[in-house]
Amino acid sequence: MKTSIATVSLSGTLGEKLEAIAAAKFDAVEIFESDLVTYSGPPADVRKACGELGLDIVTLQPFRDFEGMPAGQRERAFARAERKFDVMHELGTDLLMICSNVSPESLGGIDRAAADLHELGERAARRGLRIAFEALAWGQHINDYRDAWEAVRRADHPAVGLVLDSFHILARGTDLSTIRSIPGDRIFLVQLADAPKLQMDYLSWSRHFRNFPGQGELPVLDFMKALQATRYDDALSLEIFNDQFRSGSAHSVAIDGHRSLRFMFDQLGTGTIDLPPRARPEGVSFIEFAADDQDAPRLEMLLSGLGFRRAGQHRSKAVTRWTQGDINFVVNREKEGFAHSFNLVHGSAVCALGLEVANAARTFERATLLLDQPFHQPVGPGELDIPAVRGVGGSLIYFLDKASDLGRVWDIEFAQTEFGQAEFDQAGDAGHETGLTRVDHISQSMQYDEMLSWLLFYTSLIDLNKVPVQEVADPGGLVRSQVIEADDGALRFVLNASQSQRTQSSRFLSELFGSGVQHIAFATDDLLATVARLERNGVKLLQIPENYYDDLEAKTDLTPDQLMTFRNHNILYDREGAAEYLQVYTQTFEQRFFFEIVERRGYRGYGAANAPVRLAAQARLSTDAP
Ligand code: MG
Ligand code: MG
Repeated sequence: MKTSIATVSLSGTLGEKLEAIAAAKFDAVEIFESDLVTYSGPPADVRKACGELGLDIVTLQPFRDFEGMPAGQRERAFARAERKFDVMHELGTDLLMICSNVSPESLGGIDRAAADLHELGERAARRGLRIAFEALAWGQHINDYRDAWEAVRRADHPAVGLVLDSFHILARGTDLSTIRSIPGDRIFLVQLADAPKLQMDYLSWSRHFRNFPGQGELPVLDFMKALQATRYDDALSLEIFNDQFRSGSAHSVAIDGHRSLRFMFDQLGTGTIDLPPRARPEGVSFIEFAADDQDAPRLEMLLSGLGFRRAGQHRSKAVTRWTQGDINFVVNREKEGFAHSFNLVHGSAVCALGLEVANAARTFERATLLLDQPFHQPVGPGELDIPAVRGVGGSLIYFLDKASDLGRVWDIEFAQTEFGQAEFDQAGDAGHETGLTRVDHISQSMQYDEMLSWLLFYTSLIDLNKVPVQEVADPGGLVRSQVIEADDGALRFVLNASQSQRTQSSRFLSELFGSGVQHIAFATDDLLATVARLERNGVKLLQIPENYYDDLEAKTDLTPDQLMTFRNHNILYDREGAAEYLQVYTQTFEQRFFFEIVERRGYRGYGAANAPVRLAAQARLSTDAP
């Protein structure tokens, strides 16, 4: 199917929109009338620009308040349509899209609408043009695609066809089975949009909250499956009214749009481009910190306190590996290359994540086909070329697997440091380790309007599921929190964003000069034992206020002993049925980054009930800071 997007979906002037749409590799475009009206040149210039960019124009839209008008107004509606036909000739498109009438003056009746469509079809056909009819969810008389189809069917004219718009159909929860019986050649255009489930009037919901397929909660795939039964094979056009998209970068929104279509075709098994399957995540291979010479020793001291041991030195670079359990940290203090430039912009921060997948090369291939941004830098002698793409905030995501040499990266690129495990044990400090076993989850903070974009990035590439969004109270405002996780918990991300400038999530963005990893949670099998060792190692944990424990006492049946232990060691606790969750946080490193340690006793969540307590405790510390 031909991929298309409506100009209304993007920011910028019409010229900028068309360039962004072409750059994102769409086949076609829907020209929204207001973009044409505000364009500085004649419609013929738009035709020329589209021609040069290789974009077909699938339709001019919308044509409003046409069918069922009473006498007098009816003639004017036809005269308006004739003027649109003139514009379409200049523009070089043969299809006019008509949405169902919302005027209170319009008259109902399918036959009346059909007669009007028939007559306009006659007039269009005389000029070699076609018209297509869409039921708006808030249409005065026709607000259901089944009625629009009945009007088109009764109009019985080859130049009159139907528009199916997934939003109008799915928002009303209209039964999809009728779609299957519509002949594909009577459908002239299909518009696609997803949206979050919201309780509001259809018009406001549609005009402000639509998003790309896969970003919302509507059953767009079910709609597509019904459409497949019709054998429709023409343009599939994204028509997305979204306030954030219209203020964002036209280029990146257009790429997100095309990525959403490719991902959708992939899920339906109908793509013309064959994508390797979504990557099955097997865990986090490593977390890379870019640190300058001043911060690196402090960071390494913290890692050491957390029980990591220095396990390797890169053979040719100022890069050290720290490890514990299945966790690997890489501290990069190189003075050139990616990590260094990242450090110059952001200061000491996580600059890359290494993800273990079943097949790294195939994952990279899928990423490329999903229009993700590949990353390459020169590889030194004896180094592996680890496939990578750009992730949140310009950081990198590397893909590793066990099947190739990538699984031996530590042996190939790193020399064991003199202070190996044997010496480590001999030093009589076997108790140094704190029992951290693996990365439990990675929390990334980002701009509010980036969230849907990264949600799509992760879920289209990796086999991760989204969990319903949570709103968490920070003393500075609300934080929106989106979890995406693997079924088996092998990989979990928490994406956070806030519209308030005063939340911790937003302060992090200004401290870091951009989006990025704000905290990493490690798993332990025994949090109490881990905390005892952390305290012995001198790691400072975030202080939790007394009131939290009084509240915990009131709402749980924890024993006085358990409560005393949690209180004494700043442990947060949550319970879901019989499942329990224990958490502690380190104090914040360099005012912005911190670690969390969790013990899951059958618990699947993230302690959302405790998040406001943690955020308030961190806010108190940051205001107390000199
Ligand atoms: Mg529409
Ligand atoms: Mg967490």
